[in-house]
Amino acid sequence: MSEAAMLNRHLAAAKPSATYRMIDRVAARRETGAKIISLSAGEPDFDTPAHICDAAVSAIRAGHTRYTQVAGLRPLREAVAAKFRNENGLEVSWQDTIVCSGGKQVIFNALAATLNEGDEVIVPAPYWVSYPEIVALCGASPIIVSCGEDAGFKLTPAALAAAISPRTRWVILNSPSNPTGAVYSRNELSALAEVLLAHPHVLVLSDDIYEHLIFDGAAFHTLAQVEPRLALRTLTMNGVSKAYSMTGWRIGFGTGPRWLLEAMEKLQGQQTSGACSISQHAALAALTGPQNFIETSRGIFEQRRNLAVRMLNETPGMSCRIPGGAFYAFAACAGLIGRTTPAGTLLETDEDVAIALLEECNVAVVHGSAFGLGPYIRFAYALDTDTLLNACESIRRFVDRLTA
Ligand code: GLU
Repeated sequence: MSEAAMLNRHLAAAKPSATYRMIDRVAARRETGAKIISLSAGEPDFDTPAHICDAAVSAIRAGHTRYTQVAGLRPLREAVAAKFRNENGLEVSWQDTIVCSGGKQVIFNALAATLNEGDEVIVPAPYWVSYPEIVALCGASPIIVSCGEDAGFKLTPAALAAAISPRTRWVILNSPSNPTGAVYSRNELSALAEVLLAHPHVLVLSDDIYEHLIFDGAAFHTLAQVEPRLALRTLTMNGVSKAYSMTGWRIGFGTGPRWLLEAMEKLQGQQTSGACSISQHAALAALTGPQNFIETSRGIFEQRRNLAVRMLNETPGMSCRIPGGAFYAFAACAGLIGRTTPAGTLLETDEDVAIALLEECNVAVVHGSAFGLGPYIRFAYALDTDTLLNACESIRRFVDRLTA
């Protein structure tokens, strides 16, 4: 038997995470001494606030270093429930929550707990790279619905209605969006909810991980709040990674119908068990401690967005919509396709552009096709202003030197 044949067929067919591939590539280039500016990994560049780190150290010293309940420590689940009640207006008690090892595990648990061969999951594109792969790993089919720039990169009610079939099990919503930064308004969510109300067999995964990174004074809305009649078939997912600069701590959480949470807990109990006990104590401090970090970092990201988008739009061959949230700029790069780099590489795809930017300009980005829409480039502008300025200037110089 070949080595490939020994693999699970869904895993064998799956693509590796495009974001992690670029993160690994950057690390490999840095090991050779290259000075890379990375706009590839989608994570805040700030340190985790000190009071959160202190809570983790105290947890270690107090001996909170053992297994926890699979679905999370009771005080953390109570804090998560309070967050969903206070910030999102959801009627949630601690039993309606689950804590997982990162938002990714919330998503994986939910899909693995519910999907069978032949099932379909509607994934609006551009999408975060892992949604369709997780669906396929569970043996189901991602139904990709293209949401182009003219639709603001957002799913319209008509496109949703057209994509729903008797086999649809889930639709995935992500606002603010990775990779486009698009934000759904209350009215837009209401209109999607109207469609969903007519299809009671469809569950909704609302990935709200960028909730607090929203700009221009806009308000955040989540589907289960906008349409409470959908609450019993919506999994609302969030975590501490983006709001409190805690990506490495790996704490995500969700709320949804109890039958689903129980199934997710059963699955998690056979897999990773409870999330890291120390991280859970840190997450508790994050949710219950001072919240000013959120507004401070939001303001900084808004300034960075303004800078990055302005500079990208000043770069010939690129154009970028103003993203309403998250920390991504998703720029069209059609004007660079077909041109040749100073090193002699013909840029045929957006992946070629991303690779050339890394190899010839020492700036790491992720190509849009990995998110289901090309030719685009995703810039994660989670860097200080000077570094961001340097990156944008290098890109500009690189583009100026392309030949027809
Ligand atoms: N969510 C981040 C990104 O899109 C982290 C990497 C990942 O899990 O894909 O860059």
